[in-house]
Amino acid sequence: MLRNKLSSINLCNIAVHDKFWGKYTGLVTKEIIPYQWKALNDEVLDAEPSHCISNFEIAAGLKEGSFQGWVFQDTDLAKWLEAVAFSLSYEPNPELEKRADEAIELIGKAQEENGYLNTHFSILYPGQQFCNLKEGHELYTSGHMIEAAVAYYKVTGKDKFLQIMKKNADLICEVFNTEKYKNAIPGHEEIELALVKLYEVTGEQKYMDMAKAFVDRRGMRPNYLSEENTKPWYIDVWHDPNPYVEEYGQSHIPVREQDKAEGHAVRAVYLYSAMADIAYQYKDDELFQACERLYENIINKRMYITGGIGSSGMMERFTTDYDLPNDSNYSESCASIGLAMFCRRMTQITGDASYLDTMELALVNTVLAGIAMDGKSFFYVNPLEVWPDNCMEATSRAHVKATRQKWFGCACCPPNIARTLASLGEYICFVDEDGFYLNLHTGASFECDTESGRLAVEVDTEFPWKGHTIIRIKSDNTYGKARIRIPSYANNLCVNFNGEKLEPVIKKGYLVIKGKFKDDVIDITFDMPAQIVYANPNVRADIGKAAVVKGPIVYCLEEIDNGSNLAGVYIDVTEALEEEYCPDVLGGVTVIKAKGKRVETTSWNDGKLYAPRPVKFEKTNLTFVPYCNWGNRGYGEMSVWVKSL
Ligand SMILES: [Zn+2]
Repeated sequence: MLRNKLSSINLCNIAVHDKFWGKYTGLVTKEIIPYQWKALNDEVLDAEPSHCISNFEIAAGLKEGSFQGWVFQDTDLAKWLEAVAFSLSYEPNPELEKRADEAIELIGKAQEENGYLNTHFSILYPGQQFCNLKEGHELYTSGHMIEAAVAYYKVTGKDKFLQIMKKNADLICEVFNTEKYKNAIPGHEEIELALVKLYEVTGEQKYMDMAKAFVDRRGMRPNYLSEENTKPWYIDVWHDPNPYVEEYGQSHIPVREQDKAEGHAVRAVYLYSAMADIAYQYKDDELFQACERLYENIINKRMYITGGIGSSGMMERFTTDYDLPNDSNYSESCASIGLAMFCRRMTQITGDASYLDTMELALVNTVLAGIAMDGKSFFYVNPLEVWPDNCMEATSRAHVKATRQKWFGCACCPPNIARTLASLGEYICFVDEDGFYLNLHTGASFECDTESGRLAVEVDTEFPWKGHTIIRIKSDNTYGKARIRIPSYANNLCVNFNGEKLEPVIKKGYLVIKGKFKDDVIDITFDMPAQIVYANPNVRADIGKAAVVKGPIVYCLEEIDNGSNLAGVYIDVTEALEEEYCPDVLGGVTVIKAKGKRVETTSWNDGKLYAPRPVKFEKTNLTFVPYCNWGNRGYGEMSVWVKSL
């Protein structure tokens, strides 16, 4: 671990003007935030109602009625406010800020005298607080509220929301250090990483200590969550007849002993993010090593090529090594966001850019696939293969949707994607006392202060369609270090500094250029041609199949380009792939063309289901488009993995 961790850049100091990311980040303030506000107010026609604002109004005593929605419904507003806060950092908007202030006012009114804040319990179970940690999501909800409050405070300087959440966090620190709750842990992790953020802005050690206690208690005996239903204060809020599965909540063994990513994928990566934070803060090598083992297990055995995690539709969870089915997986958008959060922290505390390859994979494939290109519909589940006809309700594929939905009754993903896009700058760039770290090859302008002065940096790139990035640094002869991530897939790296070829110095995955900067240009090129990749043969679902990738971008076949029954299509891996940038396709993407064949069907026109008849093939051309953009041109089949010749 590093002595001083790399800081995320202050979002006020970075502007993103990237062609690839801009298709999405450009929608945040114009489309996504206003749309999601309507959704929270149940104003989107034909969408599942949220009830979120209504619940707060009822809890605040402003309206009659009862709580509706899931126990964690309040988090939709929290994530929306966090997205608003991030967006205000680079695009001031007094009207939006006023709306956010009013929402914060409402949150304050819904808070109870002792600091408790949760509309579900305040409305339905008044006075019964922290009586079902296993399913109640009170600490998870507080965690998201704290994250939002910290973001809002950091951007606007207004501390009303922060004070509301400090009062709530003070209650949590008090309650969960009593004898009654001395072993208690949250059912759904999130509060841990949020308390770390609260510590970072307030400097109050008790928040960090509480976060550490929640992490340390997990997996210890007695297991509070396993025994909770025997406690006299327990209330059954979820009515789940099944017993608590300890692996599901990562509480089966102490976190320091864990070496496999288990259970509910979102919970797992939120926990690992907090573990990384706490390992750094307490210089806890044992905890850090657990983070490394869990990371290795994910990327080597339990992650989809798209950076998706969580193989099982049932319980949204990890299963076993190499179990990566393509058409029934969960791969929740939130899980990939959590994976990106975990990877980001691992790089911040080690200075090692290798984690960022995974972060990038999760962000550019699964997280972007989670949102439509108009910003108004969303995937919760991210399969790698879809046959719309069999995504049926009341079947084992009921969770798989062939089209993005306008909203969800359980809507954790849409506002999570919004806050992630709004805070993309924090992923693009880190800073330290010497200069900057460019993590994602993304068009952006930013400034950073070193110990000897300020660097103004301008990044222009043709990424991800071409490995060519130009970084211009302007400064008043300031000494500094420019560190630019060179991804693991980059070949034939060529670096020019002010027009002269430079022998690249790569340290922990970053190209390092140091010196006094005045008006300098770093020109980087590398090859990242489209290529055919295969899965480890232990991945049974992918045996005999191939996928097409270009750098971090995973491609897929869609019915609109390749006809139906993609299961009957084979790619000829002996033929070269052709890349073609198509400005009119999906807002401008590089399309990959391949040769292949498809199963001929006319000989089956007699309608027989089975017959002793040889399979015949016909030649076909295949067109691959980026997976992140699938499902934006109508309804149809999609497949990432394709049978190979
Ligand atoms: Zn989600």
